[in-house]
Amino acid sequence: MQIALPDFALVVLIGPSGAGKSSFARKHFIETEIVSSDRCRALICDDETRLDVTRDAFALLRHTAALRLKHRRLTVIDATSAKRADRAHLLSLAKEYHAPAVALVLDIDPAICAARNENRPLRDFGADVPQGHSQALRSGLDALEKDGFRQVHTLRTPEEVDAVTITREPLAIDRRADHGPFDIISDVHGCYEELIALLDRLGYVCDPYTEGEAPMSARHPQGRIAFFVGDLCDRGPCNVDVLRLVMGMCAEESARCVIGNHDFKLLRWLRKGKATLTHGLAVTVEEMEGCSDTFRRAVRDFIESLLSHQWLAGGDLVIAHAGLPEAMHGRDSGVVKDFAMFGLKSGEKDEYGLPVRIDWAQDYRGNAVVVHGHTPMPEAEWLNNVLCLDTGCVFGGKLTAFRWPEREMVAIPAARQYAKPSRPLAAGARTVQPE
Ligand code: ATP
Ligand code: MG
Repeated sequence: MQIALPDFALVVLIGPSGAGKSSFARKHFIETEIVSSDRCRALICDDETRLDVTRDAFALLRHTAALRLKHRRLTVIDATSAKRADRAHLLSLAKEYHAPAVALVLDIDPAICAARNENRPLRDFGADVPQGHSQALRSGLDALEKDGFRQVHTLRTPEEVDAVTITREPLAIDRRADHGPFDIISDVHGCYEELIALLDRLGYVCDPYTEGEAPMSARHPQGRIAFFVGDLCDRGPCNVDVLRLVMGMCAEESARCVIGNHDFKLLRWLRKGKATLTHGLAVTVEEMEGCSDTFRRAVRDFIESLLSHQWLAGGDLVIAHAGLPEAMHGRDSGVVKDFAMFGLKSGEKDEYGLPVRIDWAQDYRGNAVVVHGHTPMPEAEWLNNVLCLDTGCVFGGKLTAFRWPEREMVAIPAARQYAKPSRPLAAGARTVQPE
């Protein structure tokens, strides 16, 4: 059995005393990756069997694990973790640091565990202990995924345990090895004409326009990648054409795209056939209703494949639709996805009845450049190391690209104003902007 672990994860070993958790950890992980409850007991009182220090030992275990996760290190918890309440503490740590939680269950027959423990010097507590662990463990097995474990692997015999090999895979959002060069393109919102003009200005060779639903494409002779920050549709005039082009380019790998809030809402409509048709979705839906089921399915699959953000160029560049604070770079969770699509909201409404956005970039101190769209402004604007690239093309502004690593800005003015902003566009006003 081969287990592919994310190379950043909180791995929780679960199994009765004597199941072989510590042996398994030693075989597959390096010493500093393993945070063991017994070791924590020993660190506190020089005796790994003393039960009266349990409380402090687990405080140390959680604290150590938290610091490792903060520094984005794979962490393996070697404790019984048979009870749901014990796992809940660990799951909340994984959540806090946006680490995928992995359950590795050693569901070994308690009779085997008890027989092994008889031969161990410090485990003379009898057969009832592994029996009790096993019962607790088995009652919670089915709920592990529901409780929040992203992966659950269950090994039921010593032979299965011995046969396991483990590989480590980077998270999908981890593209640090990829240095581009990129042309990062802000919120297109159906502005196909301006997109073609921008690609042309950037040196891409675009396929001639065709009517219908077939993908179109464009490629750069030097292999540059067009990187869309999301919000391909809504409000603008040619949403289907923009989708055909971006989907065609992504299929040919001459472009990439992260998901924006408008893409997410379109996905909801594509999945369920309904959504409130506000903020420009109505025009996209009207176009999509004239398309075939096959095309709509292709768009749905495409949006479903989009990631929340990408961590690029050795970690020096992060691209996310609404940006991302440093503590979330290179991590993945529901909260990260939500932030990357919607940004941070205060929970209040502004004078236009729209949610007030909090400008997280004011507190940004990271070294990585974060490029995002989402909040239209008259000019692309830097704040700390954060670049807002949305220059409101659909509102009559311009469509802007940011070239990486050159750090140059290239823009095409809108042919006309296609929609009215829900709030006025203002420089330096990331806190109060249209949805
Ligand atoms: P505890 O919860 O009490 O710390 P544990 O699950 O960590 O137990 P280990 O210390 O790894 O268990 O192993 C218990 C005993 O079983 C040890 O004596 C070890 O040598 C033996 N053992 C562990 N794994 C295997 C295996 N796959 N096959 C045979 N023996 C094993
Ligand atoms: Mg052990």
